[in-house]
Amino acid sequence: MDLDPLICHKPLSRWMAQHPILRDIRALRETAWVNPGMLPTAQALSGCPLTLADVEDASDRLDRFADYFRTAFPETRAWGGILESPVRAIPAMQHCLEADHGIPLPGRLWIKLDSHLPISGSIKARGGIYEVLKTAEDIALRHGLLRPGDPYRLFDRPEFRAVLSQYSIAVGSTGNLGLSIGIMGAKLGFRVTVHMSADAREWKKDLLRSKGVTVMEYPSDYSAAVAQGRKEAEDDPHCHFVDDENSQTLFLGYAVAALRLKVQLDRAGVRVDREHPLFIYLPCGVGGGPGGVAFGLKLVYGDNAHCFFAEPTHSCCMLLGLATGLNHHISVQDLGLDNRTAADGLAVGRASGFVGKLLAPFLSGCYSLEDHRMYRMLAQLANTEALRLEPSALAGMYGPVLLAKDPILSAYPAQYGLTSTQLVQSTQLVWATGGSMVPPEEMDRYYAKGQALLNS
Ligand SMILES: *Cc1c(COP(=O)(O)O)cnc(C)c1O
Repeated sequence: MDLDPLICHKPLSRWMAQHPILRDIRALRETAWVNPGMLPTAQALSGCPLTLADVEDASDRLDRFADYFRTAFPETRAWGGILESPVRAIPAMQHCLEADHGIPLPGRLWIKLDSHLPISGSIKARGGIYEVLKTAEDIALRHGLLRPGDPYRLFDRPEFRAVLSQYSIAVGSTGNLGLSIGIMGAKLGFRVTVHMSADAREWKKDLLRSKGVTVMEYPSDYSAAVAQGRKEAEDDPHCHFVDDENSQTLFLGYAVAALRLKVQLDRAGVRVDREHPLFIYLPCGVGGGPGGVAFGLKLVYGDNAHCFFAEPTHSCCMLLGLATGLNHHISVQDLGLDNRTAADGLAVGRASGFVGKLLAPFLSGCYSLEDHRMYRMLAQLANTEALRLEPSALAGMYGPVLLAKDPILSAYPAQYGLTSTQLVQSTQLVWATGGSMVPPEEMDRYYAKGQALLNS
C-alpha cells in the first residue's frame, strides 16, 4: 500500500505533523479526545438545520404507528405499541468497575437498555424501523389508502401489504440495521434486500432469510456493502434505499429516544440540571445512531448533557474525522488500519459526513478502546447485573472509567466549569446498544471469552 497517501490533496505525513493524535490512532493506541469545537448548545442550535420540531414530528409519527404495533407485534403491547427500552441504575457494576480500576467513579452509573428494544434488539430498532414506517406512510398516503385521522392498524390489512409489495427497500449494514429494516419491511409487505458486510453474524442472515428477506453478502467491509446497495437501488424508482451514511430520517428516528428518556428519568426521580449534569457514553459506528440520540439529548438537556462517542481502536472513524476536521474525507484504512473488531456493530472505517458535520458543535468528545475491554466488561455486566449484551454494546461502559482517570477526559469537567460536587451529583449514563437477540450459544461464547480475560 501507499505509505503516504494523499488525503484531500495533502500527503498523510503532513496531516500527521499537524495532528499528533493521528500517531496514536495509527499505532492502535487507546485514544481520548475532547472536542475543542463544542459550542454552547443555544449557539450550536442556531446554526443547525434540524430542530426540536423535526424530532417531535418523528415522535408523533411513531405515536400514530403505536396502533399498528399493538396489532402486528403483540410483544409491544406492554409499552402501548411504543418501541422503548428500560433505563436503570447499575450499582453493582459500578462497584465492580471501581474495584477493577482502583478508582471511584464519579456520580451514579446508569444504563439505557436499547439492547432490549422490541422487534430487533438493538438501537437500530429506533432509526431503522422509523425510516421503514415513514416510507410506508408516504406510499399509503400517495395511493390514497390512508387518510389523515385513519387508524394505523390498517397497515396490517392485506390491501396495504399488496400495495407495499410493489415497492422494495434496500440497505447496507454490518448486521443490526439490516435486521431492523428487514424484519419491519417484510412485515409490512415490502420486498427487502439487505447488503451485508463481512462482519455480519450468520444468525442475523439466517433470521432475515427466514422472513423472506434477500440477503446479499460481501467479502468487504461496511462502506462497500452500502455502496453496492445504493447503486442497485439507484436504477429502480420503486426502491427506497435507506442511506445509513446520509439519512436525515434515520437520524430523527434515533433522536426521538431523548424525548422519551426525559420522561423516564423524570419518573425515576433522576434530576438533570446545572447541579446534576448528565454524561452519556454512546458506541459509535457510522454515527447515525449515537449522533441522533446525542442531538436529541442536547435539544432536551442543553448544556447539562455531555455526550461522548466510543469506538474500537481498529475502527475509530468518527474520532479520526472529528479530531482532524477531515470528517468523512478520511478513513481508518488511510492510516493502514484494518477496520477489524469483535464489535461488529461498530466495524465502520469511514464516518458519516452528514453526522460528523452536524454533531461537531454538540459533541463533548470521543475515545477508542480495545476489544478485550469490551469482552471483560461484557462478563462483568453479566456477573453483576445479569445483563447479557453484545460486545459493541459495552463500548460506552469504559467512558466513566476514563472520565475518572484518563489524563485527557478527566480534565474535561473542569474545562467546562463543573465542580467536583457537581460531578458527584452527576448521572453517568451508558447507552447499551444491542444484544438481547443474540442466540444463547453465541452469547455463551462471548461471555466465556470475557470471563477468561478476567481470570487471566
Ligand atoms: C449500529 C450499532 C451501533 C452504532 O450505530 P451507528 O449508527 O452505526 O453509529 C452501536 N451498537 C450496535 C450494537 C450497533 O448495531
